Amino acid sequence: MGQAKSRGTQEARIAEAVRFAVQEKPPTIACNVCQVVLAQAEQLDTRGLKGIELAFKSHCTACDQDTWAVRGEASAVRAFYAALEKSVGGPVQLGSAKPPLSS
Ligand SMILES: [Zn+2]
Repeated sequence: MGQAKSRGTQEARIAEAVRFAVQEKPPTIACNVCQVVLAQAEQLDTRGLKGIELAFKSHCTACDQDTWAVRGEASAVRAFYAALEKSVGGPVQLGSAKPPLSS
């Protein structure tokens, strides 16, 4: 009797779950320093960041470096990294870029 009701709810739930899964699916991030694939990417809240679609951060335990992966408009991504470097106080390892020249 209550099946018709719960079916509708379940469909909505599944649709939401699928959407959520797609949004939350972390990319494969490789450590820029030692090239280890980092499985546990942490998704950052980018709702307040204009032009940024997704941002992930992963910490490499092997070399103690954070690697970032950011998707969005190129200018917004550059601004994001610039802000990151400011907050970190040094060069930030980019997930998809070559390591910076050692200073
Ligand atoms: Zn590493």
